[in-house]
Amino acid sequence: MQISEPDNFYDLVIVGGGIVGASFCCALEQELGETPLSILVVEAISPNTNSARQSSFDAKSTALSFGSRKFLEGIDLWQALDDAVSAIHEIQVSDRGRLGSVKINRDEQDVEALGYVVENKRLGQVLNARLNESKKINLLCPALVSCVKATEKGMQLDLNHGDTETRVDASLVVLADGGKSPVCEQLGIAQSVERYDQHALIANIVFEKPHQHVAFERFTDTGPLAVLPLESIDGKNRGSLVWTLSVEQAAQYRELNEEELLPLLQERFGYKLGKILEIGETFVYPLSLCIAKEQVRPSLALLGNVAHTLHPVAGQGLNLALRDTRALVDVLVNAKQQGLGLGEMNVLLEYVACQEADQATTTQFTHNITKLFSSNNEAKVWLRKFGLVAIELLPTLRRGLAERAMGLSKS
Ligand SMILES: Cc1cc2nc3c(=O)[nH]c(=O)nc-3n(C[C@H](O)[C@H](O)[C@H](O)COP(=O)(O)OP(=O)(O)OC[C@H]3O[C@@H](n4cnc5c(N)ncnc54)[C@H](O)[C@@H]3O)c2cc1C
Repeated sequence: MQISEPDNFYDLVIVGGGIVGASFCCALEQELGETPLSILVVEAISPNTNSARQSSFDAKSTALSFGSRKFLEGIDLWQALDDAVSAIHEIQVSDRGRLGSVKINRDEQDVEALGYVVENKRLGQVLNARLNESKKINLLCPALVSCVKATEKGMQLDLNHGDTETRVDASLVVLADGGKSPVCEQLGIAQSVERYDQHALIANIVFEKPHQHVAFERFTDTGPLAVLPLESIDGKNRGSLVWTLSVEQAAQYRELNEEELLPLLQERFGYKLGKILEIGETFVYPLSLCIAKEQVRPSLALLGNVAHTLHPVAGQGLNLALRDTRALVDVLVNAKQQGLGLGEMNVLLEYVACQEADQATTTQFTHNITKLFSSNNEAKVWLRKFGLVAIELLPTLRRGLAERAMGLSKS
């Protein structure tokens, strides 16, 4: 429920109502049932604003794993997205200009789909609608958290909304304010950062031929280029492009008009889906691996990009964040039922223990793939070529890769 004035105290305050913050609230509300808990979400950007300013609900599309589908189904959000989701039946991985490609398909893996593509804007509408309908969750938006400070009993937050400044106390603060977090900086939580010197150019594109639910991942000398299948609109065969480029190229390409960019993209992607007929508005994102050096403190937990921002090459960032979300919700609900304080360090450390292996392997997997597939170093080119051929020939390797892509791998 949208509010105009927050109370003085909440059991839980979530900073950031982007995909992760909003999903966390919805899942927590569902799991709590009738258990009383006062919850406030503070989100800086109104959903009615130009979506390009809203990092979670802008023009990007997200490949959701089967595990993320289960999560969204569990909180009754999947049903509302269903008509806007395009299933991935096959993933084709290839190396531009070199032999060796891998096809992973749903029949071999014996699943309904390898993943699902949803436009973030649509996901945002569904999540926002849920937050607005909720009787339990107070939503203050647009409002900015300008300061978070530890107190004896928990955390104190300073909020700016409109011309008003308010102070709120909380037993627990969940920071879900994205990769560039001034709050985190102010709290002195350091990040380990590895810049990839790459930017991702994203756009929606229209092809001559239908995608037949195939997702393409193509490795080029500038880095990976992915095209994800989107639902067609007005008979247009749509795909979502994530094109990794050097920083200089990205700056240059974002200035090109559609006619100038189209042949460059066609040359990179090839003609698997026939001619590229249209390229929509382009957006550029700098890419780096950022990991917060602390995930929890007494009365504080980090969730989503503020905890770990990954390269989008393997489509793992949000999927991992939703697994973290599930784990944090379970730990908090359990603590509440046992009469423990939500902000107690042993409760929050239990969450860290649940997720640290998953976070470490997913991060390492994404980082290794990014490095391997962005390099023109001869040794890496050979490894890549050999790797793709080996995966194509060996069903066990293919299954391992597919399970990781589907978010089902436990290793
Ligand atoms: C090009 C690209 C493609 C991607 N593709 C995939 C994919 O296919 N699959 C996948 O799993 N992941 C993918 N990702 C990763 C995914 O987009 C992120 O994991 C996800 O967006 C993280 O969401 P978040 O809510 O943590 O952060 P954000 O999206 O940054 O949201 C943070 C929110 O907090 C609000 N906020 C910030 N500061 C404050 C404050 N002080 N007070 C109040 N509110 C505040 C912001 O307004 C925003 O709404 C991709 C990423 C990129 C860049």
